Amino acid sequence: MFYLAKTDPQIADIIEKERLRQQNGLELIASENLVSRAVLEAMGSVMTNKYAEGYPGKRYYGGCEFYDIAENLARDRLKKLFGAQHANVQPHSGTQANMAVYFAFMKLGEGLMSMKLSQGGHLSHGSPVSFTGHFYNVTQYSLDPKTEMLDYGMVGELAKKEKPKIIVCGASAYPRTIDFKAFQEIADDVGAYCMADIAHIAGLCATGVHPTSVGVTNFTTTTSHKTLRGPRGGAIMCNTEYAQAIDKAVFPGMQGGPLMHTITAKAVCFEEALRPSFKEYNRQIVKNAKVLAETLMDCGLRLVSGGTDNHLMLIDLIGQGITGLEAETALGKAGITANKNTIPNETKSPFVTSGLRLGTPVVTSRGMKEEHMRQIGTWIATVVKDIHNEAAIKDVKTKVTAMAGKFPLYPE
Ligand SMILES: *Cc1c(COP(=O)(O)O)cnc(C)c1O
Repeated sequence: MFYLAKTDPQIADIIEKERLRQQNGLELIASENLVSRAVLEAMGSVMTNKYAEGYPGKRYYGGCEFYDIAENLARDRLKKLFGAQHANVQPHSGTQANMAVYFAFMKLGEGLMSMKLSQGGHLSHGSPVSFTGHFYNVTQYSLDPKTEMLDYGMVGELAKKEKPKIIVCGASAYPRTIDFKAFQEIADDVGAYCMADIAHIAGLCATGVHPTSVGVTNFTTTTSHKTLRGPRGGAIMCNTEYAQAIDKAVFPGMQGGPLMHTITAKAVCFEEALRPSFKEYNRQIVKNAKVLAETLMDCGLRLVSGGTDNHLMLIDLIGQGITGLEAETALGKAGITANKNTIPNETKSPFVTSGLRLGTPVVTSRGMKEEHMRQIGTWIATVVKDIHNEAAIKDVKTKVTAMAGKFPLYPE
Protein backbone atom coordinates (compact mmCIF):
# COMPACT_ATOMS: atom_id res chain seq x y z
CA MET A 1 0.00 0.00 0.00
CA PHE A 2 3.10 2.18 0.07
CA TYR A 3 2.57 3.61 -3.42
CA LEU A 4 -1.20 4.03 -3.15
CA ALA A 5 -0.83 5.90 0.14
CA LYS A 6 1.09 8.58 -1.76
CA THR A 7 -1.10 8.78 -4.87
CA ASP A 8 -4.53 8.29 -3.31
CA PRO A 9 -4.41 8.49 0.49
CA GLN A 10 -8.21 8.47 0.70
CA ILE A 11 -8.49 4.99 -0.83
CA ALA A 12 -5.34 3.71 0.90
CA ASP A 13 -6.95 4.70 4.19
CA ILE A 14 -10.15 2.80 3.37
CA ILE A 15 -8.17 -0.34 2.48
CA GLU A 16 -6.23 -0.12 5.73
CA LYS A 17 -9.43 0.34 7.74
CA GLU A 18 -10.95 -2.71 6.06
CA ARG A 19 -7.79 -4.72 6.77
CA LEU A 20 -8.06 -3.79 10.45
CA ARG A 21 -11.78 -4.66 10.50
CA GLN A 22 -10.94 -8.12 9.14
CA GLN A 23 -8.00 -8.50 11.52
CA ASN A 24 -9.81 -7.42 14.70
CA GLY A 25 -13.11 -9.24 14.17
CA LEU A 26 -14.37 -12.76 13.66
CA GLU A 27 -15.84 -13.32 10.21
CA LEU A 28 -18.51 -16.01 10.30
CA ILE A 29 -20.13 -15.31 6.94
CA ALA A 30 -20.47 -18.77 5.42
CA SER A 31 -19.80 -17.63 1.84
CA GLU A 32 -16.53 -15.85 2.56
CA ASN A 33 -12.90 -16.84 2.97
CA LEU A 34 -9.42 -15.43 3.35
CA VAL A 35 -7.16 -15.88 0.31
CA SER A 36 -3.44 -16.59 0.49
CA ARG A 37 -0.78 -13.95 -0.07
CA ALA A 38 0.04 -15.72 -3.34
CA VAL A 39 -3.54 -15.32 -4.59
CA LEU A 40 -3.52 -11.64 -3.58
CA GLU A 41 -0.26 -11.10 -5.45
CA ALA A 42 -1.58 -12.70 -8.63
CA MET A 43 -4.76 -10.59 -8.41
CA GLY A 44 -2.78 -7.38 -8.09
CA SER A 45 -0.41 -8.12 -10.96
CA VAL A 46 0.14 -6.92 -14.55
CA MET A 47 -2.16 -9.76 -15.66
CA THR A 48 -4.99 -7.21 -15.38
CA ASN A 49 -3.59 -5.11 -18.24
CA LYS A 50 -4.57 -7.10 -21.32
CA TYR A 51 -7.55 -8.18 -23.35
CA ALA A 52 -7.73 -11.90 -24.09
CA GLU A 53 -11.14 -12.44 -25.71
CA GLY A 54 -11.42 -16.04 -26.87
CA TYR A 55 -9.73 -19.12 -25.43
CA PRO A 56 -6.10 -20.34 -25.24
CA GLY A 57 -4.74 -20.73 -28.78
CA LYS A 58 -7.78 -18.90 -30.29
CA ARG A 59 -7.61 -15.28 -29.12
CA TYR A 60 -8.89 -12.15 -30.83
CA TYR A 61 -5.85 -10.11 -29.70
CA GLY A 62 -2.10 -10.48 -30.19
CA GLY A 63 0.33 -10.84 -27.31
CA CYS A 64 -1.65 -13.47 -25.39
CA GLU A 65 1.07 -16.14 -25.28
CA PHE A 66 1.55 -15.94 -21.51
CA TYR A 67 -2.17 -15.50 -20.85
CA ASP A 68 -2.70 -18.75 -22.76
CA ILE A 69 -0.30 -20.60 -20.45
CA ALA A 70 -1.95 -19.14 -17.35
CA GLU A 71 -5.48 -20.02 -18.47
CA ASN A 72 -4.42 -23.54 -19.52
CA LEU A 73 -2.84 -24.04 -16.10
CA ALA A 74 -6.03 -22.84 -14.40
CA ARG A 75 -8.15 -25.22 -16.50
CA ASP A 76 -5.82 -28.21 -16.10
CA ARG A 77 -5.45 -27.75 -12.35
CA LEU A 78 -9.21 -27.43 -11.87
CA LYS A 79 -9.79 -30.56 -13.98
CA LYS A 80 -7.22 -32.45 -11.91
CA LEU A 81 -8.69 -31.18 -8.63
CA PHE A 82 -12.17 -32.50 -9.46
CA GLY A 83 -11.35 -35.22 -11.99
CA ALA A 84 -13.36 -33.27 -14.58
CA GLN A 85 -13.20 -33.86 -18.34
CA HIS A 86 -13.72 -30.19 -19.18
CA ALA A 87 -13.42 -26.90 -17.30
CA ASN A 88 -14.22 -23.30 -18.17
CA VAL A 89 -12.61 -20.79 -15.79
CA GLN A 90 -13.82 -17.58 -17.44
CA PRO A 91 -17.17 -16.82 -15.73
CA HIS A 92 -16.81 -13.58 -13.78
CA SER A 93 -18.95 -14.93 -10.94
CA GLY A 94 -21.00 -17.89 -9.76
CA THR A 95 -24.16 -16.32 -11.14
CA GLN A 96 -22.54 -16.04 -14.57
CA ALA A 97 -21.40 -19.66 -14.45
CA ASN A 98 -25.05 -20.60 -13.90
CA MET A 99 -26.18 -18.21 -16.62
CA ALA A 100 -23.87 -19.88 -19.14
CA VAL A 101 -25.33 -23.33 -18.43
CA TYR A 102 -28.88 -21.99 -18.76
CA PHE A 103 -28.03 -20.16 -22.01
CA ALA A 104 -26.35 -23.24 -23.45
CA PHE A 105 -29.07 -25.77 -22.67
CA MET A 106 -32.40 -24.01 -22.14
CA LYS A 107 -34.51 -21.78 -24.40
CA LEU A 108 -36.36 -18.77 -23.02
CA GLY A 109 -39.58 -19.86 -21.34
CA GLU A 110 -38.47 -23.44 -20.72
CA GLY A 111 -38.69 -25.05 -17.32
CA LEU A 112 -36.13 -24.51 -14.56
CA MET A 113 -36.53 -26.40 -11.31
CA SER A 114 -34.64 -25.52 -8.12
CA MET A 115 -34.76 -25.07 -4.36
CA LYS A 116 -36.73 -22.10 -3.03
CA LEU A 117 -34.64 -19.09 -2.05
CA SER A 118 -36.29 -18.92 1.38
CA GLN A 119 -35.36 -22.56 2.00
CA GLY A 120 -31.70 -22.11 1.13
CA GLY A 121 -31.56 -21.72 -2.67
CA HIS A 122 -29.75 -18.94 -4.57
CA LEU A 123 -31.08 -15.89 -6.43
CA SER A 124 -29.66 -17.23 -9.70
CA HIS A 125 -31.77 -20.39 -9.35
CA GLY A 126 -35.01 -18.76 -10.51
CA SER A 127 -35.86 -15.96 -8.09
CA PRO A 128 -38.40 -13.46 -9.50
CA VAL A 129 -35.93 -10.63 -8.85
CA SER A 130 -33.18 -12.35 -10.91
CA PHE A 131 -32.98 -12.68 -14.72
CA THR A 132 -33.67 -16.38 -14.16
CA GLY A 133 -37.17 -15.62 -12.88
CA HIS A 134 -37.88 -13.46 -15.94
CA PHE A 135 -36.44 -15.78 -18.58
CA TYR A 136 -37.60 -19.21 -17.45
CA ASN A 137 -40.65 -21.04 -16.26
CA VAL A 138 -39.58 -21.68 -12.67
CA THR A 139 -40.80 -24.45 -10.37
CA GLN A 140 -39.31 -24.72 -6.91
CA TYR A 141 -39.05 -27.51 -4.38
CA SER A 142 -39.10 -27.05 -0.61
CA LEU A 143 -37.53 -28.97 2.24
CA ASP A 144 -39.43 -31.55 4.25
CA PRO A 145 -41.13 -29.34 6.87
CA LYS A 146 -40.47 -31.87 9.65
CA THR A 147 -36.80 -32.70 9.11
CA GLU A 148 -35.93 -29.41 7.33
CA MET A 149 -33.89 -31.56 4.94
CA LEU A 150 -34.24 -32.44 1.26
CA ASP A 151 -36.95 -34.98 0.47
CA TYR A 152 -35.88 -36.65 -2.79
CA GLY A 153 -39.24 -38.36 -3.20
CA MET A 154 -40.98 -34.97 -3.16
CA VAL A 155 -38.44 -33.50 -5.62
CA GLY A 156 -38.99 -36.48 -7.94
CA GLU A 157 -42.79 -36.11 -7.86
CA LEU A 158 -42.54 -32.41 -8.69
CA ALA A 159 -40.13 -33.13 -11.55
CA LYS A 160 -42.54 -35.72 -13.00
CA LYS A 161 -45.39 -33.23 -12.86
CA GLU A 162 -43.52 -30.18 -14.21
CA LYS A 163 -41.07 -31.84 -16.66
CA PRO A 164 -38.39 -29.11 -16.39
CA LYS A 165 -35.50 -28.74 -18.85
CA ILE A 166 -32.88 -28.22 -16.13
CA ILE A 167 -33.00 -29.33 -12.51
CA VAL A 168 -30.69 -27.37 -10.22
CA CYS A 169 -29.34 -28.76 -6.97
CA GLY A 170 -27.00 -26.96 -4.59
CA ALA A 171 -27.73 -24.14 -2.18
CA SER A 172 -26.51 -21.11 -0.27
CA ALA A 173 -27.92 -21.95 3.15
CA TYR A 174 -28.39 -25.72 3.39
CA PRO A 175 -26.41 -27.25 6.28
CA ARG A 176 -26.79 -30.88 5.19
CA THR A 177 -25.24 -33.28 2.67
CA ILE A 178 -26.72 -33.15 -0.83
CA ASP A 179 -27.21 -36.42 -2.73
CA PHE A 180 -26.14 -35.41 -6.24
CA LYS A 181 -26.66 -38.91 -7.61
CA ALA A 182 -30.30 -38.85 -6.49
CA PHE A 183 -30.80 -35.52 -8.30
CA GLN A 184 -29.24 -36.82 -11.53
CA GLU A 185 -31.48 -39.89 -11.40
CA ILE A 186 -34.55 -37.67 -10.96
CA ALA A 187 -33.40 -35.63 -13.97
CA ASP A 188 -32.74 -38.77 -16.06
CA ASP A 189 -36.23 -40.06 -15.23
CA VAL A 190 -37.90 -37.00 -16.76
CA GLY A 191 -35.40 -36.32 -19.58
CA ALA A 192 -33.98 -33.20 -17.91
CA TYR A 193 -30.41 -31.99 -17.43
CA CYS A 194 -29.04 -31.79 -13.91
CA MET A 195 -26.84 -28.87 -12.81
CA ALA A 196 -25.11 -28.98 -9.43
CA ASP A 197 -24.18 -25.54 -8.12
CA ILE A 198 -21.47 -26.29 -5.54
CA ALA A 199 -20.51 -22.61 -5.00
CA HIS A 200 -20.51 -22.99 -1.21
CA ILE A 201 -19.11 -26.49 -0.80
CA ALA A 202 -16.58 -26.68 -3.67
CA GLY A 203 -13.62 -27.09 -1.32
CA LEU A 204 -15.44 -29.83 0.57
CA CYS A 205 -16.30 -31.61 -2.71
CA ALA A 206 -12.77 -31.29 -4.08
CA THR A 207 -11.32 -32.96 -1.00
CA GLY A 208 -13.91 -35.70 -0.49
CA VAL A 209 -15.24 -34.10 2.69
CA HIS A 210 -18.61 -33.88 0.89
CA PRO A 211 -19.53 -36.19 -2.04
CA THR A 212 -18.68 -34.52 -5.34
CA SER A 213 -21.07 -33.72 -8.18
CA VAL A 214 -18.37 -33.77 -10.88
CA GLY A 215 -18.82 -36.81 -13.06
CA VAL A 216 -22.20 -37.41 -11.41
CA THR A 217 -24.42 -34.55 -12.62
CA ASN A 218 -24.37 -33.23 -16.21
CA PHE A 219 -22.92 -29.87 -15.18
CA THR A 220 -21.20 -28.51 -12.11
CA THR A 221 -20.93 -24.78 -11.50
CA THR A 222 -18.99 -23.16 -8.71
CA THR A 223 -17.44 -20.03 -7.33
CA SER A 224 -13.73 -19.90 -6.59
CA HIS A 225 -14.02 -17.63 -3.55
CA LYS A 226 -15.97 -19.63 -0.95
CA THR A 227 -14.58 -22.88 0.51
CA LEU A 228 -12.18 -23.11 -2.48
CA ARG A 229 -10.41 -20.08 -0.95
CA GLY A 230 -9.49 -18.32 -4.18
CA PRO A 231 -10.22 -15.00 -5.91
CA ARG A 232 -13.84 -13.92 -6.49
CA GLY A 233 -15.03 -15.67 -9.64
CA GLY A 234 -16.84 -18.60 -11.20
CA ALA A 235 -16.13 -21.83 -13.10
CA ILE A 236 -18.00 -24.61 -14.90
CA MET A 237 -17.14 -28.31 -15.19
CA CYS A 238 -18.75 -30.92 -17.46
CA ASN A 239 -18.03 -33.91 -19.67
CA THR A 240 -16.39 -33.37 -23.07
CA GLU A 241 -19.70 -33.81 -24.92
CA TYR A 242 -20.98 -30.51 -23.46
CA ALA A 243 -17.68 -28.60 -23.63
CA GLN A 244 -18.25 -26.72 -26.86
CA ALA A 245 -21.74 -25.52 -25.98
CA ILE A 246 -20.59 -24.32 -22.55
CA ASP A 247 -17.56 -22.49 -23.92
CA LYS A 248 -19.63 -20.72 -26.59
CA ALA A 249 -22.23 -19.68 -24.02
CA VAL A 250 -19.55 -18.07 -21.80
CA PHE A 251 -17.73 -16.34 -24.68
CA PRO A 252 -19.06 -14.79 -26.87
CA GLY A 253 -22.49 -15.70 -25.45
CA MET A 254 -22.51 -13.60 -22.31
CA GLN A 255 -19.07 -12.12 -21.59
CA GLY A 256 -16.42 -10.12 -23.39
CA GLY A 257 -12.80 -10.15 -22.25
CA PRO A 258 -12.01 -12.53 -19.40
CA LEU A 259 -10.58 -11.14 -16.14
CA MET A 260 -7.12 -12.58 -16.70
CA HIS A 261 -5.67 -11.41 -13.36
CA THR A 262 -8.50 -13.32 -11.69
CA ILE A 263 -7.95 -16.39 -13.88
CA THR A 264 -4.25 -16.28 -13.01
CA ALA A 265 -5.18 -16.11 -9.32
CA LYS A 266 -7.61 -19.01 -9.86
CA ALA A 267 -4.66 -21.04 -11.17
CA VAL A 268 -2.75 -20.22 -7.98
CA CYS A 269 -5.76 -21.17 -5.83
CA PHE A 270 -6.31 -24.49 -7.64
CA GLU A 271 -2.65 -25.45 -7.13
CA GLU A 272 -3.02 -24.67 -3.42
CA ALA A 273 -6.18 -26.78 -3.35
CA LEU A 274 -4.27 -29.75 -4.83
CA ARG A 275 -1.94 -29.86 -1.80
CA PRO A 276 -2.60 -32.33 1.04
CA SER A 277 -2.90 -29.40 3.47
CA PHE A 278 -6.06 -28.25 1.67
CA LYS A 279 -7.75 -31.54 2.50
CA GLU A 280 -6.76 -31.08 6.12
CA TYR A 281 -8.12 -27.52 5.97
CA ASN A 282 -11.52 -28.64 4.68
CA ARG A 283 -11.75 -31.41 7.27
CA GLN A 284 -11.07 -28.80 9.94
CA ILE A 285 -13.78 -26.49 8.53
CA VAL A 286 -16.35 -29.25 9.09
CA LYS A 287 -14.95 -30.26 12.51
CA ASN A 288 -15.12 -26.61 13.57
CA ALA A 289 -18.68 -26.25 12.28
CA LYS A 290 -19.77 -29.34 14.21
CA VAL A 291 -18.32 -28.03 17.47
CA LEU A 292 -19.77 -24.55 16.92
CA ALA A 293 -23.19 -26.11 16.22
CA GLU A 294 -23.04 -28.35 19.30
CA THR A 295 -22.01 -25.43 21.50
CA LEU A 296 -24.90 -23.28 20.27
CA MET A 297 -27.37 -26.11 20.86
CA ASP A 298 -25.91 -26.79 24.31
CA CYS A 299 -26.60 -23.12 25.07
CA GLY A 300 -30.25 -23.69 24.21
CA LEU A 301 -30.39 -22.33 20.66
CA ARG A 302 -32.30 -24.21 17.96
CA LEU A 303 -30.50 -24.97 14.71
CA VAL A 304 -32.43 -25.60 11.50
CA SER A 305 -32.40 -29.39 10.84
CA GLY A 306 -30.80 -29.88 14.25
CA GLY A 307 -27.17 -29.46 13.22
CA THR A 308 -24.76 -29.44 10.29
CA ASP A 309 -22.83 -31.78 7.97
CA ASN A 310 -20.85 -29.05 6.24
CA HIS A 311 -19.32 -25.61 6.85
CA LEU A 312 -22.50 -23.74 7.80
CA MET A 313 -25.45 -23.68 10.16
CA LEU A 314 -28.64 -21.69 10.62
CA ILE A 315 -29.91 -20.51 14.00
CA ASP A 316 -33.70 -20.33 14.26
CA LEU A 317 -34.27 -17.21 16.38
CA ILE A 318 -38.04 -17.47 16.71
CA GLY A 319 -37.75 -19.07 20.16
CA GLN A 320 -35.54 -16.17 21.30
CA GLY A 321 -38.13 -13.59 20.28
CA ILE A 322 -35.66 -11.66 18.12
CA THR A 323 -35.12 -11.24 14.37
CA GLY A 324 -32.12 -12.12 12.23
CA LEU A 325 -31.52 -8.42 11.67
CA GLU A 326 -31.39 -7.73 15.42
CA ALA A 327 -29.00 -10.64 15.97
CA GLU A 328 -26.75 -9.55 13.09
CA THR A 329 -26.60 -5.98 14.45
CA ALA A 330 -25.88 -7.00 18.06
CA LEU A 331 -23.19 -9.49 17.01
CA GLY A 332 -21.67 -6.80 14.80
CA LYS A 333 -21.25 -4.61 17.87
CA ALA A 334 -19.43 -7.52 19.51
CA GLY A 335 -17.00 -7.84 16.58
CA ILE A 336 -18.64 -10.97 15.17
CA THR A 337 -19.75 -10.66 11.55
CA ALA A 338 -22.60 -12.93 10.44
CA ASN A 339 -25.66 -12.54 8.24
CA LYS A 340 -29.37 -12.63 8.82
CA ASN A 341 -30.93 -15.39 6.76
CA THR A 342 -34.35 -16.74 5.98
CA ILE A 343 -35.19 -20.10 7.52
CA PRO A 344 -37.61 -22.73 6.20
CA ASN A 345 -41.20 -21.42 6.35
CA GLU A 346 -39.97 -17.88 6.94
CA THR A 347 -42.65 -15.31 7.80
CA LYS A 348 -40.49 -12.17 7.73
CA SER A 349 -38.97 -10.21 4.82
CA PRO A 350 -35.44 -11.06 3.58
CA PHE A 351 -34.26 -7.76 5.13
CA VAL A 352 -35.44 -8.82 8.58
CA THR A 353 -35.66 -12.68 8.69
CA SER A 354 -35.98 -15.10 11.60
CA GLY A 355 -32.59 -16.75 11.17
CA LEU A 356 -28.88 -16.22 11.35
CA ARG A 357 -26.37 -18.04 9.12
CA LEU A 358 -22.91 -18.89 10.45
CA GLY A 359 -19.96 -20.52 8.69
CA THR A 360 -16.44 -21.57 9.64
CA PRO A 361 -14.28 -21.19 6.47
CA VAL A 362 -12.67 -17.84 7.44
CA VAL A 363 -11.93 -18.61 11.09
CA THR A 364 -10.52 -22.00 10.03
CA SER A 365 -8.28 -20.25 7.48
CA ARG A 366 -6.97 -18.15 10.36
CA GLY A 367 -5.96 -21.33 12.18
CA MET A 368 -8.73 -21.57 14.76
CA LYS A 369 -9.67 -25.00 16.08
CA GLU A 370 -12.41 -26.74 18.10
CA GLU A 371 -11.52 -25.02 21.40
CA HIS A 372 -11.94 -21.61 19.78
CA MET A 373 -15.30 -22.64 18.31
CA ARG A 374 -16.52 -23.48 21.82
CA GLN A 375 -15.61 -19.99 22.97
CA ILE A 376 -17.13 -18.30 19.92
CA GLY A 377 -20.33 -20.34 20.29
CA THR A 378 -20.68 -19.30 23.92
CA TRP A 379 -20.15 -15.65 23.01
CA ILE A 380 -22.75 -15.80 20.24
CA ALA A 381 -25.27 -17.37 22.63
CA THR A 382 -24.53 -14.70 25.26
CA VAL A 383 -25.28 -11.91 22.79
CA VAL A 384 -28.29 -13.51 21.14
CA LYS A 385 -29.99 -14.49 24.39
CA ASP A 386 -29.56 -11.09 26.05
CA ILE A 387 -29.56 -8.78 23.07
CA HIS A 388 -30.21 -5.50 24.96
CA ASN A 389 -27.44 -6.04 27.50
CA GLU A 390 -24.88 -3.51 26.24
CA ALA A 391 -22.38 -4.33 28.99
CA ALA A 392 -22.39 -8.01 28.06
CA ILE A 393 -21.94 -7.16 24.36
CA LYS A 394 -19.00 -4.92 25.23
CA ASP A 395 -17.44 -7.68 27.29
CA VAL A 396 -17.77 -10.13 24.38
CA LYS A 397 -16.22 -7.57 22.03
CA THR A 398 -13.14 -7.32 24.28
CA LYS A 399 -12.76 -11.10 24.22
CA VAL A 400 -13.33 -11.31 20.46
CA THR A 401 -10.65 -8.68 19.79
CA ALA A 402 -8.20 -10.50 22.05
CA MET A 403 -8.76 -13.83 20.31
CA ALA A 404 -8.62 -12.28 16.82
CA GLY A 405 -5.31 -10.66 17.75
CA LYS A 406 -3.77 -14.09 18.25
CA PHE A 407 -4.60 -15.10 14.66
CA PRO A 408 -3.11 -12.58 12.22
CA LEU A 409 -4.68 -12.53 8.74
CA TYR A 410 -1.25 -12.85 7.16
CA PRO A 411 1.33 -14.13 9.65
CA GLU A 412 4.88 -13.21 8.67
C1 LIG B 1 -22.58 -17.67 -3.82
C2 LIG B 1 -23.41 -18.47 -4.71
C3 LIG B 1 -23.43 -18.26 -6.10
C4 LIG B 1 -22.69 -17.20 -6.83
O1 LIG B 1 -22.58 -16.00 -6.38
P1 LIG B 1 -21.87 -14.78 -7.11
O2 LIG B 1 -22.05 -13.75 -6.07
O3 LIG B 1 -22.62 -14.51 -8.36
O4 LIG B 1 -20.44 -15.15 -7.38
C5 LIG B 1 -24.15 -19.13 -6.89
N1 LIG B 1 -24.82 -20.14 -6.35
C6 LIG B 1 -24.84 -20.37 -5.03
C7 LIG B 1 -25.60 -21.55 -4.52
C8 LIG B 1 -24.16 -19.54 -4.17
O5 LIG B 1 -24.21 -19.76 -2.85
